Amino acid sequence: MKFIILFLAVVFGYIVASILSSKNVKNISLYLAFSGAFLLSITLFELLPEVFENLEGNPGIFIMIGILIQIGLEFFSKGSEHGHVHLSTGKQTFPLVLLISLSLHALIEGFPISGDNNLLWGIVIHKIPVAIVLSFFFINAKYTRKTTILFLLIFGAMTPLGTYLMDISPTLFKYKFEVSAIAIGVFLHVSTTILFESSKDHKFNLSKVLVILFAVVLAYFL
Ligand SMILES: [Zn+2]
Ligand SMILES: [Zn+2]
Repeated sequence: MKFIILFLAVVFGYIVASILSSKNVKNISLYLAFSGAFLLSITLFELLPEVFENLEGNPGIFIMIGILIQIGLEFFSKGSEHGHVHLSTGKQTFPLVLLISLSLHALIEGFPISGDNNLLWGIVIHKIPVAIVLSFFFINAKYTRKTTILFLLIFGAMTPLGTYLMDISPTLFKYKFEVSAIAIGVFLHVSTTILFESSKDHKFNLSKVLVILFAVVLAYFL
């Protein structure tokens, strides 16, 4: 079931992008703030304590590795995992580098999803705006429907694949907490960047503050 839900998040994003106009898509910053705050809260309230309780040695090293991996990936993805795309439009070659960097990011995201935590919902909420903005970019840049769907199919399959690999691979499971700590690094970097970007001018915005508070409280009581 969790595999289908994760995949449907991307399908849903594509459908929303196909229906909405570009003006509406640019207006999802409130939702982005919610998704960043929610993912950050699940990471801090659930994943972090679990890793610090169970991982022998220094979890901080693995968390830092995750942060560095994400910094590296963003050179290639141009931050598409934050819900914005800065790719040059015009040349319609298949964006392979973007696909590989986003897929690696999505694969790592899938590893720590399990029945013991609410990360599934954190990832679904985070993935929807990313899928909307990506789909919108593809549609707008006049990529063929085939290319768009192929890209989204592969991207959408990566997070469920990560979760599945953790379920079936004893080797991966043996290093469950190390892998989770790396994913925590990825989540910390992505979610705080999303929050930062959602208020670039640092102007006080009441609805944004309320949305962020709501996400934190919701994640806490989930
Ligand atoms: Zn960004
Ligand atoms: Zn992500």
